[in-house]
Amino acid sequence: MEKFQESLQKMQKMSDAEQKKMLEQLKGMCLCPGCPTYNACMKEKTERLFCVLGKSACIVSMKACLCPGCPVTSKMGLTMTFYCAEGSEAQRRER
Ligand code: SF4
Ligand code: SF4
Repeated sequence: MEKFQESLQKMQKMSDAEQKKMLEQLKGMCLCPGCPTYNACMKEKTERLFCVLGKSACIVSMKACLCPGCPVTSKMGLTMTFYCAEGSEAQRRER
């Protein structure tokens, strides 16, 4: 099975507590706060991990995206960029 599908299935099988722990872990790895696209609104809402949680509630002006170099990309088998503007990997694969 493809890596992202495998990661998703693994997360779906976790208990709520395990899932929460995993999300906190991934948030800690997220490079978004250092990205030129990451703005004051996102910071105020402490948003991150858009690749899993979905797009930002803020207005996004796309500059650069650090996702390709993020450890979450290799860990989860992500294939896209600009998740803050475009939505999570899972949502976009369903389109
Ligand atoms: S891939 Fe992008 S959105 Fe996902 S955790 Fe890394 S920097 Fe954040
Ligand atoms: S998803 Fe990509 S473009 Fe958006 S803030 Fe994170 S690293 Fe930057």
